[in-house]
Amino acid sequence: MIYFDHNATTPLLPEARQAWLDACENFVGNPSSPHRFGARADTALNEAREQLGAALGCHAAEIVFTSGATESNNTVLHHFARHWSSDAEVWVSAVEHPSVLEPARFHFGKRLQFIPVTRDGAVDLSWLEAKLKRKRPALVAIMAANNETGALQPWREALQLCRGGEVEFFCDAAQWMGKLPAAGLGQCDWASGAAHKFGGPRGVGFLKVPANLSSTALIRGGPQEELRRAGTENVAGALAMLSALRVRERQMEAGEQKKLAAQRDNFERTLLATLAGSELVAARFPRLWNTVSALMPEADCQQRWVVKLDKLGFAVSTGSACSSGKEEPSHVLRAMGYSAADAGRVLRFSAGWGTTADDWDALLGSLQSVAEKISSRAGKILEKRDVVE
Ligand code: PLP
Repeated sequence: MIYFDHNATTPLLPEARQAWLDACENFVGNPSSPHRFGARADTALNEAREQLGAALGCHAAEIVFTSGATESNNTVLHHFARHWSSDAEVWVSAVEHPSVLEPARFHFGKRLQFIPVTRDGAVDLSWLEAKLKRKRPALVAIMAANNETGALQPWREALQLCRGGEVEFFCDAAQWMGKLPAAGLGQCDWASGAAHKFGGPRGVGFLKVPANLSSTALIRGGPQEELRRAGTENVAGALAMLSALRVRERQMEAGEQKKLAAQRDNFERTLLATLAGSELVAARFPRLWNTVSALMPEADCQQRWVVKLDKLGFAVSTGSACSSGKEEPSHVLRAMGYSAADAGRVLRFSAGWGTTADDWDALLGSLQSVAEKISSRAGKILEKRDVVE
């Protein structure tokens, strides 16, 4: 199998696996325990916190370890729902991940406003700027990079606009971390990430919170994480997450993205030239180097493409992991102005740091063979229909 679904989850990096095993062996105590075993685990966890703070550009005390981005994102919306008056609004980009959209809908209902995006999937900053002149929401949430299209959002500019308007800014950085340098994300009031998106294990992530926050914990119980997230800390997970992040930041410093982006661009050019009816999504705007979002020729539904490609040895996706399998057209493509029919033709190919030019070439060959099979099947159906008529 060739894996083209890295935006859903990434294979564990060997260094992260080793860090996890070492931590399980070396840090047997509970960080909250009063003995030396506990103290050792607590020290290791706080070193990981220091390192993550340094990578993001914030203080270690502003980092809360969580079970992943979904929990972090829910925590943010929960906090604002509890701490703000009942008429406070939140403004959320229309292309956010469901782990932001759903808690925002749940907690804020009609007080949730969607920040529109352009046809290229980038948030409309002029909308935000104009709107902030007239109103002050409790929170603005704009992700760093979109999981379905790879579109990079202008989160730094949005952060500045929010600073000017004295509005708190939240950035879901789950797809940015490990693909682009993390530096600067710690400037956001709130930011989230998940280890398994950048070569770390599943079930561990973080939330960057404002300094001196007395937050309303989503998970209540013990006093862990300065009362901001109860539950025995996942020490091995946090250490493995940091190990993966260090590896990825080093690989990025070595300039790997240029080569990887060139391979992706070459694939896209050849796809457009050879697969009649295919169309790229969000390709005119800066994107993650690893993501291709493309509409397939009209002849058949996206699920059939996924199944046929799977049989040929390629793991691809229809978009976000969370909406695959459902018939609903992608809310991201709909927000970008695509019709439901066109949104139903989209496939996402998301490469990893180990993907090669040969992998992209092989995918291209298989797409062409699936297209031929599908169009000959469509032809037969049409012929049958003609006979019946
Ligand atoms: N945010 C974004 C942008 C994502 O892509 C995902 C996962 O696909 C999440 C949040 C949720 O991450 P997790 O499933 O690790 O909680």
